[in-house]
Amino acid sequence: MMDGQCHCGAVRWTLSIEPDWLTRCNCSYCRRAQALWAHADRARVTLDYRADSVVRYLQGDQTLAFISCKRCGCTTHWEGADPAAGGRMALNAHMAEPSAIEGLRIRHFDGADSWEFLD
Ligand SMILES: [Zn+2]
Repeated sequence: MMDGQCHCGAVRWTLSIEPDWLTRCNCSYCRRAQALWAHADRARVTLDYRADSVVRYLQGDQTLAFISCKRCGCTTHWEGADPAAGGRMALNAHMAEPSAIEGLRIRHFDGADSWEFLD
């Protein structure tokens, strides 16, 4: 299990399992946000925040929404543009305590170009 929250605590998430690895992506958004993603099935994730506490940023092809806290600015997770459709999402593991992610494998995803893992 892994818990995360933004700096001010308005946006919180819980992942019910430990991820097999974390993903660092070099796409135009992720390199700016410096996020470290724990991809997860929506069914394994509990989200706790008010809809009016966040900014939903739809990028590029409009299929993904990056969620950031409106107050402190931390990017906490992304989800499909239509969350009702369920499915894929990812949590920014930098919202967890460092001790919770220490030792987890980090894989590098080439989101900028080939759309494949580099390792
Ligand atoms: Zn916040």
